[in-house]
Amino acid sequence: MKQRQTEVLSDQFLLPNWVLDRIMSANFRLTTYMVNSLAVTKDLAAVFDTEHEDIAKLRDDYETASLIFGTPFVTFLPTLPSAEDWRCYIEGRTPTALISKLEGMMPGLTLVQSMQLEQANRAYITALYDVLNMSLLAAPLLGMSVELAEYLRSVPQHKVDLAIAERRIPLFKWRLSNRLFWFEAAAGRLTSDMVAHYLMDNSPIRSDRLPHSGPWGNFHLSRFARLAYCEGFIRLRCRAKSIAALFDITPDKMREMYLRIHGESSPSGQQPASAVWYLESASRRVQSTMLIWLFRSALAEEASVPEAFICAMDISRRLFGDEFMPAERAFHLSRSMSTDEDLAIRSCRSCSTPYLASNTAPKIELAQSFQCPCCSGALSSPNSPLRRKQRGRPRKSSDATKRARFRPLKGDGAGEASN
Ligand SMILES: [Zn+2]
Repeated sequence: MKQRQTEVLSDQFLLPNWVLDRIMSANFRLTTYMVNSLAVTKDLAAVFDTEHEDIAKLRDDYETASLIFGTPFVTFLPTLPSAEDWRCYIEGRTPTALISKLEGMMPGLTLVQSMQLEQANRAYITALYDVLNMSLLAAPLLGMSVELAEYLRSVPQHKVDLAIAERRIPLFKWRLSNRLFWFEAAAGRLTSDMVAHYLMDNSPIRSDRLPHSGPWGNFHLSRFARLAYCEGFIRLRCRAKSIAALFDITPDKMREMYLRIHGESSPSGQQPASAVWYLESASRRVQSTMLIWLFRSALAEEASVPEAFICAMDISRRLFGDEFMPAERAFHLSRSMSTDEDLAIRSCRSCSTPYLASNTAPKIELAQSFQCPCCSGALSSPNSPLRRKQRGRPRKSSDATKRARFRPLKGDGAGEASN
């Protein structure tokens, strides 16, 4: 019984499967709405930030669509980015400049089209509130600022529902609106790493402006909470020894817990210590950056360090699947970022997305010349226009870059120990 209770405590930081299902469903539903409405009303392209041809092709390409829509991220951004715009929309006051602009951009809609827009807005708002109410990471998942997420949590959904009936502007637009994204999507060459880049690129939350964790340890937790978090970390497959040291519990007890949960001994051997490891490939850099971005976003929502780490690991593993780095590496990275300065966050000079970069010898990556793995072409497939420009002749694309499939909503370890 006691064990069941500790599971419940750490489980609340994992995104429930039903919310993942709602996100996927909203992604598909809103995409279909956009395809249909853009087919009839081309002028909506400027409001939705996407062209009919691009999004129709994506919707019909099952593999690419499932790669993008099966992530825990909503692939639509709010058209209203600030709490002030939402307040005005909900309360029906004199419109803000942005709302007036959106109203001005709206083409005339027939009664049926208008009803379809209303339904799409409601589908979006329902998914939005599900995520806001169920995840500390709602802001990055929904592509909004932490302030806006906080504001919307304070407004009951029915108030937004009432406003939707009154005002016919779309509340959502396409999130991944970058030409290179569409190029790779059309060619069926997107990977989880590239999707991760575009999700961070098209988000108002920047990891260089988020709070840091400070040193790990001395969490001042009750015995029960300590055990619950230990269990959460072990279910992520962090090593018994590291967790024992972090939560000040005997290593034997943690080894026992590891054996009980996973049916095998906790791995032994050297613990990760290298900062360079996280930057050794474009893929590792994207994954490490995503993890830190999520971890710090959770801290910005006032999560404790253990809570933020569990949340960030859960979403990262859902996004990258089996290719995500071992838990022990993720643990080392998140922890060392609070004390060491071997790694720093630098903004890409081309797209300005903040990325993890080397801040120490032998290779310090300077802020003024730093380029992210997407802009440098390291993430793109060999046939991307970026690569071609840099490397001359295109090579044939490899099937290994294709990993399109629905993310498993069950049986991925972290969410399963309770079943
Ligand atoms: Zn860049």
